[in-house]
Amino acid sequence: DELWSCDTLDKASSFITSHSSPFLLHNFVGGMYSAPHNSSASPSQHITSFEPKTGRPIYTLPCTQTDAVEEAIRAAKSAFPSWSKTTRAERSAILRRVSELLQENRELFAIWESIDQGKTLERARIEVDRAISNFSYFSTFILHEQTAARMVDGVALTYEHRSPAGVFALISPWNMPLYLLTWKIAPCLAFGCTAVAKPSEITSMTAFLLGGIFQRAGVPPGVINIIFGDGATTGAALVASPLINGVSFTGGTQTGIAIRRLTAHQIGKHLSLELGGKNPTLVFADSMEPSVRDRTIRVAAMAAFENQGEICLCGSRIYVEKSVYSDFVREFTAYVKQKYVLRETVGAVASLQHYDKIRKYLELAVEQKATFHLGSAPPALSENEAQGYWIEPTILTEVAKDSAIQIDEIFGPVVTITPFDSEQEAVQLANDSEYGLAAILLTTDGARMRRVGEQLEAGLVWVNCWLVRELGTPFGGMKNSGTGREGGEHSRDVFTVLRTLHLPAY
Ligand code: NAD
Repeated sequence: DELWSCDTLDKASSFITSHSSPFLLHNFVGGMYSAPHNSSASPSQHITSFEPKTGRPIYTLPCTQTDAVEEAIRAAKSAFPSWSKTTRAERSAILRRVSELLQENRELFAIWESIDQGKTLERARIEVDRAISNFSYFSTFILHEQTAARMVDGVALTYEHRSPAGVFALISPWNMPLYLLTWKIAPCLAFGCTAVAKPSEITSMTAFLLGGIFQRAGVPPGVINIIFGDGATTGAALVASPLINGVSFTGGTQTGIAIRRLTAHQIGKHLSLELGGKNPTLVFADSMEPSVRDRTIRVAAMAAFENQGEICLCGSRIYVEKSVYSDFVREFTAYVKQKYVLRETVGAVASLQHYDKIRKYLELAVEQKATFHLGSAPPALSENEAQGYWIEPTILTEVAKDSAIQIDEIFGPVVTITPFDSEQEAVQLANDSEYGLAAILLTTDGARMRRVGEQLEAGLVWVNCWLVRELGTPFGGMKNSGTGREGGEHSRDVFTVLRTLHLPAY
């Protein structure tokens, strides 16, 4: 109850300091909050979560062990028969209520998201709004679904019948915690499935609060269960369970591979994997003409540094046509320096572990004699001395094509800029990656928008804009960025099973 009154930064901060030791998050199972009961053979372990902006501990969470994971899955399994039989109108009304309650508590969720993840409060508010839209969108979507029917040669009438696919494991990462978890929960419940959701162990706070929203919205017990813990113990037990009919996962490519392995023998298990990216931004000379120059710089900068570069869709490899390369580097650097100010418009990176990962790439950049136009290699920090995990927006040039800095997903406020000579070379550089999630194309040439756009190996291509989304459009990646699409009817494909009925036409 005390937590629910923390709707200002000051109140949230004094809530944290008023506890002599970090408070413990409880799992939300069968409609109730409770500490996970783990068997004596596998004692419960607790994980501490730290505030990225200060380095102080905020809360602890249980690392839910296999027995307790199974208990949550059984709760979802028991709730499935009646939830899957509710009408679309009933589910729609409940989801609408969830979106309204989230709206009423928008500031509370934004504050905790910002404290927990390190993002700015402004950015957190945008993401809470998107979480609200996830529920309102699917609440409406299911009311307007159509069934396709065909007459075959006058002898048979066929139609497609969909039913809820069962119990789902919904697993999300730490970069946009509430938004990405609700992007899974909303369609899952809308299409009549039940679930066990597990947020990242690094950012579990808003998922914890979400249980209270579901209680108040009248979601029947067991329909949505939220458990906490790490990937190796809790996540792996969840996805591997034979009682789980499908997995909707967002996170790193290596984890996606591990989930494929864990479920390899369960062919019918639905798998939707939204994985990593190392996305290119292509800047053509025409996009640096005076009338559009500002937009080009603004879009490239936003794509690079929004949320500290911790968005899977960030454009972290910028390629610029040679004739405008030096102008672009100069103007881009000046713009970023002015607009992306650490502690003001740029938050802290999510964890000390992630800080270390980014730091190592920046030390490599120093070693490989890259040019730093902005930023530098940050100092090593220990858990005790860390005063927050702050990394300056960093702009690098002269980074070799085969450097790990150009190849790996750094997932932080680090961007490389590289020149290209021709359109063909730009496409080849953009596609020279194991990933294929997103690409940003900056040009005023209409023919090129389509010609280049259609050659890019990316599930999402943005032309002269970035992160614009309509929730019905397919979302997902190519190559090692994932498999399956989510959004509108694509989410329906994830959460339903499809049978075709053939009826005699007499
Ligand atoms: P991660 O893969 O380490 O963890 C994601 C989630 O998976 C966490 O909840 C974690 O506990 C869980 N997990 C880890 N191992 C598991 C296992 N063996 N079985 C089941 N669950 C397991 O990713 P992260 O570091 O939290 O997030 C960053 C990554 O997420 C980046 O690669 C980023 O690109 C990606 N991402 C992708 C999208 C997208 O839509 N494609 C969106 C956001 C983030």
